[in-house]
Amino acid sequence: MDSTDLIILGAGLAGLCAAVEAGEQGASVLLLEKQPDVGGSSLLSGRYMAFAGTPMQQEKGLDDSSQALIDDMMSVGGGVNDRELVDAYGAHQLETYHWLVDHGVEFKSLQAVSGHSIPRGHTIDSDQAIGTLFQRAQELPNVTIYLDAPAKRLLSDAAGRVDRVYYEMDGEARITLAEKGILLTSGGFSQSEELLAQFAPHLKSALRIGGLGNKGDGLLMAWEHGAWIRELPYLNGTYGFHPTADGPIKHQGLAFYKGAIIVNGNGKRFVNESLSYKLLGNAALKQPNGVSYQIWDQTVMDQSVPGDKLYDFDKLANHGLVYQANTLEELARDIDIDPATLKQTVSEYNEAIKTGSDPFGRKTLTHNYGELIPIENGPFYAFRTTVAMLATYAGVAVNTKAQVINPYQEPVLGLYAAGEIAGGFHGAGYMTGSSLGKASVFGRIAALSALGLDVQRSEKTSKSSS
Ligand SMILES: Cc1cc2nc3c(=O)[nH]c(=O)nc-3n(C[C@H](O)[C@H](O)[C@H](O)COP(=O)(O)OP(=O)(O)OC[C@H]3O[C@@H](n4cnc5c(N)ncnc54)[C@H](O)[C@@H]3O)c2cc1C
Repeated sequence: MDSTDLIILGAGLAGLCAAVEAGEQGASVLLLEKQPDVGGSSLLSGRYMAFAGTPMQQEKGLDDSSQALIDDMMSVGGGVNDRELVDAYGAHQLETYHWLVDHGVEFKSLQAVSGHSIPRGHTIDSDQAIGTLFQRAQELPNVTIYLDAPAKRLLSDAAGRVDRVYYEMDGEARITLAEKGILLTSGGFSQSEELLAQFAPHLKSALRIGGLGNKGDGLLMAWEHGAWIRELPYLNGTYGFHPTADGPIKHQGLAFYKGAIIVNGNGKRFVNESLSYKLLGNAALKQPNGVSYQIWDQTVMDQSVPGDKLYDFDKLANHGLVYQANTLEELARDIDIDPATLKQTVSEYNEAIKTGSDPFGRKTLTHNYGELIPIENGPFYAFRTTVAMLATYAGVAVNTKAQVINPYQEPVLGLYAAGEIAGGFHGAGYMTGSSLGKASVFGRIAALSALGLDVQRSEKTSKSSS
């Protein structure tokens, strides 16, 4: 039987970070990817990564720290996230940012994004980032990568240690032995109708837009070997997508984090727009016929960020997806809402933000960042918006070494998990950038732990986050 030190299942961001880290440590690695191409959901992502204390922030005079990031993460997660996992992220996030930069990943810009009390959304170009890490993995002579090679089952030895992967390639069944560990980096189950129907029936009408291979295979394989599961009750969709986003282009716009309001098909607001877009998604799905629109004015439009996945409102308009009108009444007619109601909704909102008495409790643009601005400067814009199931987050229980654990908190010997497949980290809410962030941080941790190496805090990390 073939053997190798590590077998990694899934070549998204977590799997590629793990493969490169392990390969550079001298381990022999077999990386299996089910799809014909690498990248998974990581390649489709909105591209934000949550890091604190970075040189990009320092250049903008932003004083941030790992501790502040941890505090925001716990607050957004409603305190039900696993504090030890969040602390581990805090301890290794800056070191991982530098690791990615050292490996050629380019961070393009910095934005204020959902859930953060300071601009912390570091954008990557996912093609560039995934392409660079994939190339590095291919250059390492001790890393073997098989595409179109779905893992099917895990096998264990007589002592219960998970040590072999049964997979398929070129129409053949194969089994390879992992001497040091098997890493599950196979993503979530946002494309599994069966698992979504079981665990998130409330998301039946949400669009499905995650990586095509993300059907929860790793979860099923881990469950068979006794893994516990975490965060299933907090499965949410993400608000901000155009109804056509399940097609080839994932049109998305979050004008509400720049000052837009959200109204339902009756022209009424129904939520505090500064909340996490996961919570907005829950609120939007409960509206009559699931219909809602973002409404904004020229002041917000002027904040369009060219090329940004979330904030390029001009691009959405150029694609014909944004309604534009000189008055709110005309806009209302265009979107089939009663003009008087929409006008009243906007004027009540403008008045409420002047007096600081918004009935939905909105005080800021995102989380607790950014000053609200009235919607009064025409032309006015509307963007039909819906909810998408793009990432599941709930997943196998892991400890801070990324070891998969059973319901009694004991490691399932030989088995590690990182990235979207791992639960426990986000808690009841979700902050932008924490999923790609977690994939990179814990992908590296999983590889090093499986090799019996400590994840050292780099000098850079200790200096910058102290
Ligand atoms: C449209 C969109 C926008 C997003 N925006 C953001 C954002 O801005 N910031 C953020 O932090 N997160 C974002 N996310 C979420 C984030 O992209 C994912 O949670 C993250 O990329 C998961 O990384 P991963 O490596 O764990 O999984 P993936 O990148 O999904 O990789 C998993 C891989 O495993 C493979 N696989 C599955 N089963 C098997 C098997 N049996 N055998 C072998 N291989 C298998 C899959 O084919 C896939 O390639 C977004 C997601 C989407 C879809």
